[in-house]
Amino acid sequence: MKGTVHSSTNIRVRTCPTWTAEIPVCSEAKTPACGSIVAAMIIISLIHCRIFGKLNGYLLNRIRHAFSIKSGTIKVMKKFDLVIVGEGISGLYAAYLAFRRFPQWNIALIADSSRLAPCSYRTTAVVSQSGIHLGVSPLGDLLFNGFQAFCEHVANDRPDGIYSGTRFHLSSDGCDAFKKRWPNGRLQQLATLKKELFVEQEETFLVDPHEYLAWLKSQMTVHFFTGLVTSVESGRVISDHLDILGDRIFLANGAYARHTPIQLKSHAPTKNYLDGSRVVPGKFALFQLCDWGEESFVLSHGHANLIYRAWSGEVLIGGTTNKNESLDDQGELQKQINFFAELVNFDLPKAVHVDTGLRHKGMQRKPALLELSTNVWALWGTYKNGWSLPHFMLKDWIEKI
Ligand SMILES: Cc1cc2nc3c(=O)[nH]c(=O)nc-3n(C[C@H](O)[C@H](O)[C@H](O)COP(=O)(O)OP(=O)(O)OC[C@H]3O[C@@H](n4cnc5c(N)ncnc54)[C@H](O)[C@@H]3O)c2cc1C
Repeated sequence: MKGTVHSSTNIRVRTCPTWTAEIPVCSEAKTPACGSIVAAMIIISLIHCRIFGKLNGYLLNRIRHAFSIKSGTIKVMKKFDLVIVGEGISGLYAAYLAFRRFPQWNIALIADSSRLAPCSYRTTAVVSQSGIHLGVSPLGDLLFNGFQAFCEHVANDRPDGIYSGTRFHLSSDGCDAFKKRWPNGRLQQLATLKKELFVEQEETFLVDPHEYLAWLKSQMTVHFFTGLVTSVESGRVISDHLDILGDRIFLANGAYARHTPIQLKSHAPTKNYLDGSRVVPGKFALFQLCDWGEESFVLSHGHANLIYRAWSGEVLIGGTTNKNESLDDQGELQKQINFFAELVNFDLPKAVHVDTGLRHKGMQRKPALLELSTNVWALWGTYKNGWSLPHFMLKDWIEKI
């Protein structure tokens, strides 16, 4: 992440896509000196940006009113139209939608991704329909609609970092569970595999998280802050480095949601949802420098996945929940690696590393977009479908806020 709080006296503010400035925050004793430094820095930045034509009058005006620095504290107070907590896919997609819908809004996004690692950068990130159809269950409907919304986004907005490929669902014995989901699956010998298996295939999207999230950031003007949020109140987000005031607040804090104190008057649904939710780690092993052809593909066998990213020459194995859901159990992952190493017609190099992401799973796996209190919302529990559920679930939200 680019912007960080370097010390207790500097808060780095990032705006996308063109401008970055460091705003020193003063203690009371240092106020006059720091005040002139702040003024000098802002003037130099503005002249610089003007010379290079990077800042338009609209942005200039916003920066002028952007900060009121409280002397004697390290708090930056500012009233934003919308304050988002979290810079994973949920937070960034919410910011992207809000900026497109209300380009005149001042939007702030605060996260502490160096201390609370976003799941969105530790994920296998595949988006498929996976044989799900409407009308079977409420969760199935959400997943189906999420997939459709993601397809629309890709077709209409043409984001970077989204690749197409084929997903092969495999079964050694064509068992009932496989037949139920894939009634047309049949015995086949794929060119990539050493043996004949029951196979059904579908078109799929493979997401490059870094590329896609960078693209989202490049599409909007949002004030990015680094801070560990220690409390959320009505109209106010409080962190260890700064407080931010906002007319609207949106929490996209993923698996850390249960650990962010929320001080709102009426939040029974929040408590119920959070109490029933869990943090579920997901692991995958990463292999690099694999030249397995020009087509990206996914092999799925039960809970095991192998993802080949043709654009980067990476292979990822794993990504689903280990049976005992423990953080340190490598046994299940090793079994999956051995399984695919024996199955595919390619050599697997030595794994570069094993990555673990923390997913937020609601009770009965239900994701939720909750209005916790007036003008305070949260998107939680996206669990295994975080790359498409925000695209559907935030559609209504953006019309309501
Ligand atoms: C191994 C693995 C494989 C996966 N595969 C897929 C897949 O194939 N397809 C799919 O759709 N999904 C998949 N997922 C799930 C998907 O990656 C997640 O659902 C999604 O990334 C969650 O995004 P998020 O924005 O909600 O949360 P996160 O990405 O975790 O972001 C949370 C943000 O909130 C910030 N934050 C939290 N609390 C605070 C606080 N108190 N103060 C400041 N900042 C805070 C964090 O720093 C972070 O920036 C997978 C997950 C894993 C782990």
